[in-house]
Amino acid sequence: MLNGKTAVVTGGGSGIGRATAIKLASDGANIVIIHMDPEEKVAEVLSEIEALGVKAKAIRMDVSDFNAVKETVDDIVKEFGTIDILINCAGITRDGLIAMMKEEGFDAVIGVNLKGTFNMIRHATPYFMKQKSGCIVNVSSVSGIIGNPGQANYSTSKAGVIGLTKSTAKELVGRGIRCNAVAPGFIATDMTANLSKNNKLVDMIPMKRMGTADEVADVIFFLASDAARYVTGEIIKVDGGIAM
Ligand code: NAP
Repeated sequence: MLNGKTAVVTGGGSGIGRATAIKLASDGANIVIIHMDPEEKVAEVLSEIEALGVKAKAIRMDVSDFNAVKETVDDIVKEFGTIDILINCAGITRDGLIAMMKEEGFDAVIGVNLKGTFNMIRHATPYFMKQKSGCIVNVSSVSGIIGNPGQANYSTSKAGVIGLTKSTAKELVGRGIRCNAVAPGFIATDMTANLSKNNKLVDMIPMKRMGTADEVADVIFFLASDAARYVTGEIIKVDGGIAM
């Protein structure tokens, strides 16, 4: 049980992050959601989490801002006493062919997906080291493993998240800190709303359907829980078999 633990979930206002925040809360964790969503959308998630009997807070913050992340992480520890679990789920896409990709589109995706994940880990780690415990789960993508046409920026960022996960795991394993990642395939969320009716794409998936946010949240929950206490530096694909 995660009773009394504090979990920070970036991108927790929607999709996979939202499902993960609810899953962790249903096992007793207090939840801090970091988001860029409209306040009304997040208010709904917060009341759903609070109804589970745990403490919940939402903070509107851009994870790509190094200094803002430091301030926010410090404030969370002041208010909640600790951070035990960090889920890095915030992510964006700016798809386009590489020959036409704008510099801004490349930088924005690297900034949120890769640097944002680094920023959160960077500022939470001193607290994890002090308490000699901590658990990080990053959200990569199968696009970062096998690549995807039209996603040079995104797959680069997600491949980077895999490198970051493994280096962090190796560096911190002796301090009682675990770091793992999930690599989802095609999951039905706002991010993929325009793909969900693409039958050709669904046909490429061995399980012949897109995944759900809950199916990814279940694996993130496993990695964040004590059941995975002997697992670190691992990347688990949650993709209906598309990258096997
Ligand atoms: P989503 O519903 O769009 O969730 C992404 C979340 O990240 C949103 O809440 C978004 O807020 C937030 N966010 C974006 N930029 C941010 C920033 N700068 N700072 C803080 N929060 C920010 O999509 P999702 O599918 O659940 O994606 C969650 C993660 O899974 C992402 O990292 C994504 O790359 C990864 N993933 C998704 C799929 C898939 O098929 N859906 C596959 C592989 C990996 P806004 O709503 O305001 O933008």
